[in-house]
Amino acid sequence: MKPIQDIFPKLAQPHRVVITTHQKPDADAMGSSLALKHFLEQLGHTVTVISPTNWAGWVNWMPGTKQVMDYDMDKQKCETVLDNAEWLFCLDFNIFHRTRTMTEKLKQMSCTKILIDHHQEPDEASFDYGISDTAKSSTCEMIYDFIVDSGYEDKINEEISECIYAGVIGDTGSFRFSSTHAGVHRLVADLKSRGLKHSRVHDKLFDNFLENRLRFTGHVLLHRMEVFYEYNTVLIAIPKNDLLRFQIKTGDTEGLVNFPQSIQGIKLVALVIDRDEERKWSFRSKDSFDCNTFARKYFGGGGHYNASGGRSSESLEKTVEDFKKAMKENASLLQ
Ligand code: 5GP
Ligand code: MN
Repeated sequence: MKPIQDIFPKLAQPHRVVITTHQKPDADAMGSSLALKHFLEQLGHTVTVISPTNWAGWVNWMPGTKQVMDYDMDKQKCETVLDNAEWLFCLDFNIFHRTRTMTEKLKQMSCTKILIDHHQEPDEASFDYGISDTAKSSTCEMIYDFIVDSGYEDKINEEISECIYAGVIGDTGSFRFSSTHAGVHRLVADLKSRGLKHSRVHDKLFDNFLENRLRFTGHVLLHRMEVFYEYNTVLIAIPKNDLLRFQIKTGDTEGLVNFPQSIQGIKLVALVIDRDEERKWSFRSKDSFDCNTFARKYFGGGGHYNASGGRSSESLEKTVEDFKKAMKENASLLQ
């Protein structure tokens, strides 16, 4: 993988570009994809964003979401666009299998592939150009750097600012995670000086839900949360029936895993949701517990040091048992 800077001289010449990201894109994945799209379009490129799957309703406010294609929904049309692409940008993921059903298609493509990502253990051999930096708070921060470093910072308009800010907010937990280095605040100061209306973005991201989501949160915290004080760990296991009862949709469970972190002394929070196709795990930690290694070792996943995810094809009961065993094995690291 050649350094990302090597692509800068080629930016002035229009290309057919596809931008893609991980399945079930969150604010950082969608925000970075759309910010890059709005930037490249100003330089004359033809740009399509393709998501491997659907996404949460609460990202629909982002400028440009209406034009995003859903590979799961419209495989044939997406493949035609992919076949015509000269450049493929892969944002907020670093190994093709995180796009699920798109994996084989992406592997086969022979166009120029460019990686911009902040997760651990990138599959660098699969990309022609790129940057992988786990010190970055978000992929949106990296898109901001990309625009500034390429010499086009005058192209940062309101649309780009809102998309970038949304991703930064999402991935830093509104500036609370340790990934929030000084440069993140400088970036936000720059966006503010360009006219960013940050309250609007918070409102769209956090005060934009239906009643059922809040009631579901209450139900889960009351009935599905187990605290293991001996291990400074909280486990939340959500059965399929709960999702049906509260009419939970993609994205409605986002942020749930953060609530138990407010309990004194908790080091690890694990959340598992019984989805149709798999049991999906989310892990969040404080201090020195390494969620990335934990997710990789026990649940075929990965992510960051303090936030990771994984999966299991076992039943909910079995994967919960597996988790408790893993928690006990890690007792010394959780003290
Ligand atoms: P979340 O719990 O929000 O789904 O994911 C937390 C973090 O871990 C995100 O940065 C996400 O990209 C990463 N992550 C989630 N699931 C997986 C997975 O199965 N594999 C890898 N490598 N990373 C994951
Ligand atoms: Mn991210």
